[in-house]
Amino acid sequence: MALIVHKYGGTSVGSPERIRNVAKRLAKWSRAGHQLVVVVSAMSGETNRLIALAKEIQANPDPRELDVVASTGEQVTIGLLAMALKNLGLKAKSYTGPQVHVLTDSAYTKARIIEIDEKKIRSDLQDGVIVVVAGFQGADEFGNITTLGRGGSDTSAVALAAALRADECLIYTDVDGVYTTDPRIVPEARRLHTITFEEMLEMASLGSKVLQIRSVEFAGKYKVPLRVLSSLTDPDMALEEEARSGTLITFEEDTKMEKAVISGIAFSRDEAKITLTRVPDRPGVAYQILGPIAEANIDVDMIVQNISVDGMTDFSFTVHRNEYAKAMDVLNTRVKSHVGAAAIIGDPKICKVSVVGIGMRSHVGIASLTFRTLAEEGINIQMITTSEIKISVVVDDKYMELAVRALHKAFGLENAAA
Ligand code: ASP
Ligand code: MG
Repeated sequence: MALIVHKYGGTSVGSPERIRNVAKRLAKWSRAGHQLVVVVSAMSGETNRLIALAKEIQANPDPRELDVVASTGEQVTIGLLAMALKNLGLKAKSYTGPQVHVLTDSAYTKARIIEIDEKKIRSDLQDGVIVVVAGFQGADEFGNITTLGRGGSDTSAVALAAALRADECLIYTDVDGVYTTDPRIVPEARRLHTITFEEMLEMASLGSKVLQIRSVEFAGKYKVPLRVLSSLTDPDMALEEEARSGTLITFEEDTKMEKAVISGIAFSRDEAKITLTRVPDRPGVAYQILGPIAEANIDVDMIVQNISVDGMTDFSFTVHRNEYAKAMDVLNTRVKSHVGAAAIIGDPKICKVSVVGIGMRSHVGIASLTFRTLAEEGINIQMITTSEIKISVVVDDKYMELAVRALHKAFGLENAAA
């Protein structure tokens, strides 16, 4: 018998029929003798609807009240799922986040979980009850309702699994796992049986939006075994088969020797590049450029500063394309003459393509194969950054798919043993 946390996203509970399917799946796990805690999202589209409703009353909704409204979607789903479980003759109880003491800070709309008191859940589990908990929500120390940011029920599930020291946290979703790249771009993309937490973080932040990034960080920190799998399979499929399906997110020390060097090719389309040319190279320049950008709440991704040969340097960075205009405005009005840059050159038609794999730590030649592959396709590299397990390049938008396909092939990912 194991203690297992299941999490079902919006699509997986998107209709009464789907909710009944989730109940059937849970019944199978319960009858196999497992203790179950189930975290659910709001039915698909519901959170968007609630936020839009709030905006009809207040263009800029009061954050405290917005959380009161936005958190209600999940409350509907927990009740419905508990009913569906009872229909199948199972013991089940639904709880909101605050009811099971999901304590968060007071940062409305993006609160962080501080602590979960798992006593109540444990005693229910001991009584053979399936505990159904609303994801995405908690309460601060004053009892104010908070939400954890969009996609936050993944984090609720992982936090509960950590608090309960669950044997595994299964995230059921509308895809069947994590792929070597987006199969819409590379039809030969393969589902990975395993990926490490670090790789997953790089893949997630680069656009493979399978899990909320924060939930992956959380799982890595608290060593929660995490699996992503499909909720759209037959709920009556053999449990042993289901338990091995999807993608398991592992720790580096557990990975097998034969794991492929590279796990995947990630990409992000919505980037923009900005360069300040001929900036006098003196202490404080990077801060003078990026300080005002940070004050304007603009996230910066890659940053590249060239060395200076004549006391002048070029300084480039990338931002999300939605924030490009705002960033250019900040630079032109507040930064350009202040730092003495010759010109500010922007390009919103770029994308970032990254080769990700922990095998890079122990293998040479990954960068050269990356660059050779792009060269052979005639793709110009505009910027390069690297981390221990990732090489990212900025290329012209129009080459994105070509770059992803060529790299996927060059690293043999269609036949990856991972
Ligand atoms: N319902 C919330 C959202 O749509 C939380 C979640 O689905 O994870 O963002
Ligand atoms: Mg989600």
